[in-house]
Amino acid sequence: MERLASKILIANRGEIAIRVMRACHDAGIRSVAVYSDCDKTAYHVRLADEAYHVGPSPSVESYLKQEKIIEIARQADVKAIHPGYGFLAENAEFARLCEKNGIIFIGPKPETIALLGDKLAARQMATKAGLPVVPGAKFDNTDMKIVAEKAAEIGYPVLIKAAAGGGGKGMRIVRSESDLTESLESAIREAGSAFGDGRVYLEKYLEKPRHIEIQILTDSHGNAVYLGERECSIQRRHQKVIEESPSPIVSQELRKRMGEAAVNIARESDYLGAGTVEFLVDQDMNFYFLEVNTRLQVEHPVTEMVTGIDLVREQIRIAEGRPMTISQEEISSRGHAIECRVYAEDPHQDFMPSTGLITEYREPSGPGIRVDSGVVAGSEIPMFYDPIISKLIVWGRDRKEAIERMLRALSEYRISGVHTTVGFGCSVMRSPRFHMGDYATDFIDVEFPERIFECAEADQGEKAAIAAVVYEYMTRQKVQTTFKKRREYRSNWVHYHRREGIKGLSKRR
Ligand code: ADP
Repeated sequence: MERLASKILIANRGEIAIRVMRACHDAGIRSVAVYSDCDKTAYHVRLADEAYHVGPSPSVESYLKQEKIIEIARQADVKAIHPGYGFLAENAEFARLCEKNGIIFIGPKPETIALLGDKLAARQMATKAGLPVVPGAKFDNTDMKIVAEKAAEIGYPVLIKAAAGGGGKGMRIVRSESDLTESLESAIREAGSAFGDGRVYLEKYLEKPRHIEIQILTDSHGNAVYLGERECSIQRRHQKVIEESPSPIVSQELRKRMGEAAVNIARESDYLGAGTVEFLVDQDMNFYFLEVNTRLQVEHPVTEMVTGIDLVREQIRIAEGRPMTISQEEISSRGHAIECRVYAEDPHQDFMPSTGLITEYREPSGPGIRVDSGVVAGSEIPMFYDPIISKLIVWGRDRKEAIERMLRALSEYRISGVHTTVGFGCSVMRSPRFHMGDYATDFIDVEFPERIFECAEADQGEKAAIAAVVYEYMTRQKVQTTFKKRREYRSNWVHYHRREGIKGLSKRR
């Protein structure tokens, strides 16, 4: 059979463009990259078989330029486009444009993307498919009296959410009626400017839920499977930073129930390809439908590590109209996988993006380690896009081994020039709560209220040494400083002593 997708254009950049290219190359498919001005020398361009300039650096002028991408696809004579995640991945209009131009969009049908991209419509669809949804309410106009009544019915705290939402935008927690009007107005404003759609709705705000999601795959031959769950409760600003599979709290019985629920909504929405059904699980282990992401997720590698299935390769097969290679009975999960997203962010400054030049870069490797990265030494982290550097994924025979391996891998990682979340990852891996698997979406606020984390190894030499000296000085001279500063110095002092193997750490100072 002639391959429909003998050449694929990847409408994305960074680590995910490279991830997709690798699947293409494994399958003997040629890859075509696109790049903006600031990505001229990016690693995804170097790895591709062909590369085309798509426009200036801001994404609205490059990676989001639908017509331009189609034009390049025609010029390069590609038959299929993989959108990665972000950018055009969940854009029904783009999927339709591909279709119109006789190009395969590697993802669900445009109608499915449009339907599930609307959180309100997706909630309705989930209810129809028999899934429990978080109690909530929609309203057609923002008559405050009606909204207040609905909020009171649901019971405070409530969460205002944007129908077109994503990335935590347009979301507001409201703890009492007195905050309702202001929160509603600002949520509508934010949703309007982020998505061009100011529709919002209410959901019961669940206290201490866990975010657990199910990976699904469906093909055009009537097959639909679930590939276990991913636990994604370690979040900052309602966005994931560390994920694992399996979840420490999901039993075989719960997995089956959640998996079957996810497959139900896939069937109900005529889903095609890889997707993720997100759930919140409350403290009594009840699960509630949250949304469907109609694309490959950032955290897909943890599922790949435990199931041994290449999800991108399956996506390509399915898009070509071929059946997926696996059946539900053949899917099993072995061992445990954890992913730490490595962002160019400063965890000590509330995870503020840290752009600039990466001056030194060395990835960890060895048994059970996978690094999906988009950079090399000399790469720039531009201000225009999501500041992700890489994803560090480890596999272990059990959760304990995976945690130990993650700590080893994080300690090998050397990234200089920008702040990173590497030290934050170490702090989480050493947290007793994380070890016990006893955590929810408020983990960072509860465990690290002062936002004091370990420093990445690469920073430790210099920074920790200085902090150690300052701390000693402050302690001896009884210098007055803020509690926060003192904690930060002490934390660095501890790491410096650990690093240098200096004894006497237990002494309280
Ligand atoms: P987005 O699409 O904007 O990322 P999601 O609906 O996927 O928004 O939710 C992101 C995160 O926000 C969840 O993982 C969870 O931490 C929090 N969240 C969403 N809905 C609720 C809710 N009803 N109660 C408590 N937390 C919620």
